[in-house]
Amino acid sequence: MPGIGPQRAKLLESELGLVSWYDLLYYFPYKHIDRSRLYQINELAPDMPFVQLKGVFLSFEENGIGRKKHLIGHFTDGKGVMDVVWFNGLRYITSHLKTHQEYILFGKPSAFNGRIQLNHPDVDPADSLMLSKMSMQPYYNTTERMKKAGMTSRTLEHFTNTLLNQLNESIPETLPTYIRDRLKLMSLNEALRVAHYPTSALQLSNAIYRLKFEELFYVQLSILRYSMERQRKSKGFVFSVVGPLFHTFFQSCLPFELTEAQKRVIREMRKDMCSGRQMNRLLQGDVGSGKTLVALMVMLIAIGNGYQTCLMAPTEILAEQHAETFRSMLRDLPVNVELLTGVVKGKRRKAVLEGLTDGSIHILIGTHAIIEDPVQFSRLGLVIIDEQHRFGVAQRARLWRKSVAPPHVLVMTATPIPRTLAMTLYGDLDVSVINELPPGRKPIHTIHMYDERPQDLYERIGQQLRLGRQAYVVYPLVKESEKVDLKNAEQGFAHFQQIFAHYKVSMVHGQMKASEKEEQMQRFVSGETQILVATTVIEVGVNVPNATVMVIENAERFGLSQLHQLRGRVGRGSDHSYCILVTGYELSKDSRRRIEIMTETNDGFEISEADLKLRGPGDLEGTQQSGVAFDLKLANLARDGQLVQLARDTANWVLENDPFQQNPDNKILWAHLQELKQNNEDWSVIS
Ligand code: ADP
Ligand code: MG
Repeated sequence: MPGIGPQRAKLLESELGLVSWYDLLYYFPYKHIDRSRLYQINELAPDMPFVQLKGVFLSFEENGIGRKKHLIGHFTDGKGVMDVVWFNGLRYITSHLKTHQEYILFGKPSAFNGRIQLNHPDVDPADSLMLSKMSMQPYYNTTERMKKAGMTSRTLEHFTNTLLNQLNESIPETLPTYIRDRLKLMSLNEALRVAHYPTSALQLSNAIYRLKFEELFYVQLSILRYSMERQRKSKGFVFSVVGPLFHTFFQSCLPFELTEAQKRVIREMRKDMCSGRQMNRLLQGDVGSGKTLVALMVMLIAIGNGYQTCLMAPTEILAEQHAETFRSMLRDLPVNVELLTGVVKGKRRKAVLEGLTDGSIHILIGTHAIIEDPVQFSRLGLVIIDEQHRFGVAQRARLWRKSVAPPHVLVMTATPIPRTLAMTLYGDLDVSVINELPPGRKPIHTIHMYDERPQDLYERIGQQLRLGRQAYVVYPLVKESEKVDLKNAEQGFAHFQQIFAHYKVSMVHGQMKASEKEEQMQRFVSGETQILVATTVIEVGVNVPNATVMVIENAERFGLSQLHQLRGRVGRGSDHSYCILVTGYELSKDSRRRIEIMTETNDGFEISEADLKLRGPGDLEGTQQSGVAFDLKLANLARDGQLVQLARDTANWVLENDPFQQNPDNKILWAHLQELKQNNEDWSVIS
């Protein structure tokens, strides 16, 4: 492209990842400035937003010394005079700006000693051609390195302008006319043009709307088509009976009544598993809602039909705990439960592998080891993945190949996800929700305490220990670190042993050997120790109903969903439980907000919505899990919920009316989808 030589091309690629015309076309401005209005110095006030002025510099003067050095330009527009101030880049300014030459200034007015001034405004020669014909000026993000090489937002503006002229009207459309007509969407050609160079705010928002819709629409089309094809292709094992195991368990082994929600989700899964289609279901339920029991019971259905099952957990501790729970709950039934994790080695491992191929093991519980090893089943009928946020689609897919045909899949997660997000992240899964906690649970009382007053904390912990209860204390770090000033588990361990000398303390963290971890954990589970000092290895799933205090040190360093998960470790018995968030006095705005949300609500759903708003979905753990690798440039899953719904409805409508892709009007859809997939990380591995 004219104006882009090898050096600039290299910078564009390394700094912004822009290689092709397409990349540049889709490198959208982060804002537009209304250049249609010129202000006058005598109407400026310090609370105004950015303003534009036209005038000349009368003189420049340097003031101050050392780090206080700054440059003042005395600027007039004929109606008044004001100071324009620069604190850095002085040499550049003095060598580039001239007195008595017309400039357009653009900046935010501020007040200093009662007088209005502009600090570090954008300065452009007033005769600049671009300005004269423009009302809304685009602003593009650039990097420090680009600026050093003289490439600014203005340079990019030249590039996009040149590019759009060069392309003329030739950008091919990506949505069929009938969809555009129905939804009153701009053409792609116009939308792209307007996204860079709008003539009004309304026009800009229409263009952005069209582009966002398109992004979301193709994601939904891709997900829905995929799940439609999968349903067409893969026959699921048919579990025709509920079976005697389930009945016996239900009638004589179940230690409590199932909640209505538990019964409902079991029915939903039962229906899937006898439909002849492969089940792919996401089970959402807040921490403590009793997902494990549901898992156990649907496994009994599979076993009752002559199939094997497996349960994957994200950590060894959790896998071991599940194995133990299952064994004790199933002790009176002829069900063989085995454990496979990284620590199961040698003869033991060999025996497990054999038991799987000869079919004598009914339930295998394990970690990643299950997928990573040459583990083969004789008849694997159902796979359950616990606490899904640690597993990706690719890993799920590997489980499908463990047996003669893809097993039914149930994914369980305690991280409730807002609907529109679930539609995208887990769009290929059906969703069941446990929206009820077992009876008798008392809400966990969440308290915010400050480091500076540790006595309050010790008092609260001591009070619970005297009642015979147990406490968790969680730290962000294992050891002392030179890099960050955070508390660590090793010091905490020593400290709590000292303060609570009459009690016993154990410790688990990720740097311990698995066997040691297990032993320490076991001491706490059995009640031998009363305090467990830990890192977030205990975040998921660990179940000790007698524990009633969860202390989180440096709570400001944890994300909302992590805090909620950790808090979910207590409140599992019928006693009053406490979650104590310990922080320093100084908190960032976001940290303070997180702590507030935690003290205000116990509802995982509210928390995840708040989380999504605070963080944006971009860095949601495991966004790539959807297998949808399309990156969203404009749309935002948190803010554009309605548009996600519209995109999904539209994609559904297209697929329903044209299930075999024969309508010529839709040709451009399938072609474009194909193109998108080729340009993005291939996710067809899961089909
Ligand atoms: P999660 O959904 O977080 O995995 P769990 O399955 O670990 O929750 O269950 C938390 C606790 O609640 C366990 O101690 C479990 O035995 C108990 N529980 C599960 N279902 C019920 C029920 N219907 N009534 C009473 N307690 C239950
Ligand atoms: Mg669980």
